Amino acid sequence: MALLLVTSCSSVTSGQGSLEDTDAEPGVEACPDVPVPPAADRPVIDLRFELDDDARTVTGTESVRFTPDIATDELVFRLTANQPMSVAAGSGIEVGEVTGEDVEGSDFESAGAEESTQGGLLVVRLGASLEPGQSTEVGIEFELRLGDGTFDRFGHDPQSSWWGSGHPLLAWEPGQGWRREPLVDSLGETATSPAADTTVSVLAPTGRTVLMTGGAEEVREDGRQTLWRSSSPTARDVSVAVGEFTVAEGSVGDSRLFVGAEDADAAAELLDQVSTAVDALRQYFGAFPYDRLTVARLDDYGGGIEYPAMILLAGPGDTVLIHEVAHMWFYGMVGNDQGSNPWLDESFATYAEGLVSGHRVDPGALQQTLDVGLPIGEFPGAETYIDIVYGKGSAMLDRAREESGADVFDAAIRCYVNANAWQIASPEDVETALQELPAALDVLRGAGAL
Ligand SMILES: [Zn+2]
Repeated sequence: MALLLVTSCSSVTSGQGSLEDTDAEPGVEACPDVPVPPAADRPVIDLRFELDDDARTVTGTESVRFTPDIATDELVFRLTANQPMSVAAGSGIEVGEVTGEDVEGSDFESAGAEESTQGGLLVVRLGASLEPGQSTEVGIEFELRLGDGTFDRFGHDPQSSWWGSGHPLLAWEPGQGWRREPLVDSLGETATSPAADTTVSVLAPTGRTVLMTGGAEEVREDGRQTLWRSSSPTARDVSVAVGEFTVAEGSVGDSRLFVGAEDADAAAELLDQVSTAVDALRQYFGAFPYDRLTVARLDDYGGGIEYPAMILLAGPGDTVLIHEVAHMWFYGMVGNDQGSNPWLDESFATYAEGLVSGHRVDPGALQQTLDVGLPIGEFPGAETYIDIVYGKGSAMLDRAREESGADVFDAAIRCYVNANAWQIASPEDVETALQELPAALDVLRGAGAL
């Protein structure tokens, strides 16, 4: 679908030159002016969730049309809700029937999941190899339990029920194959998933408001239950919040904003913050990646969690909100392997937060010895992970910008964003985008990102 190319990058930048103005080396791909479009053969995913009256049981079905670009005889899905931290809070997912003309059977792999669950990965076996360009369709039934409200992707409390990565998440990386990284017992995300043409339906008790990836339109109400629908042509994942929200709507550029909070005043204030953040960030990174952004304010559990075109804000607005909005470019549009290269989304989102808010991370963070480029599982603890990937990583990008000159560095980052849109980027892609800026490359190498 065509929403991605509506705004030229140059119309929303602060007037700096673009990398195209520099002399590119022969053979080096030119820097695209706008985000490259998503792959035409990306997965098509239809999700249906039904939230029970108990506000904590979600019955779901997922239908996937999958077309690989390399041959495979299986489909692998990540069962994020079975990670130990979530299961300890009462959450979890159980897969039921798996169907499809080409399906031979299905198995589970532990992949670091809590032992009491089916596992961390669902592997659907096909009767024959699927060749590049061939498609198959698979249907999966599942039940998701939402534990007690905490700072997690799944939960419920008296005001709301919410879930993100609540369905079996297709773990495919185009050009690479299936991603079987173990679930890590950490707050950080560890999934790798492709941008998919996604539709979502949520059947929820009438009287509650649904907010989700792709917006949310109320389509039918039968007294007891109300059906809500949304769609997003490029979602890597999906998040849903159901609760007693008052919704405020606005827009920035060509994108609509939907903000839900506990009352009209809170919603209006949050809408203002979201709108300001989107507007400020697009000056640096180009047009907002989605035609809709939804933000749901939950109770204060100490932070925010980003999903494509959706933010669960479980804390105050201000800088956390800017960080989560920045993830719409870094993770949402420019995907990454969040477990192996967490700096590609977290260092960039923290850096973006500093650019816009003016609250930069102390450059002293660069003195820390651990490498910015470590995988999430190699950090000795959550605090060190945050200090290095968020702190040192954003200080590194600040320093690289300072050493290169703000204008050319900003143009190089827009080049990286546009060239890697709707794909899964690697550190080498950052290196390619910065190849004309040796001082920046020195800084990134010195900090252990490259
Ligand atoms: Zn983040």
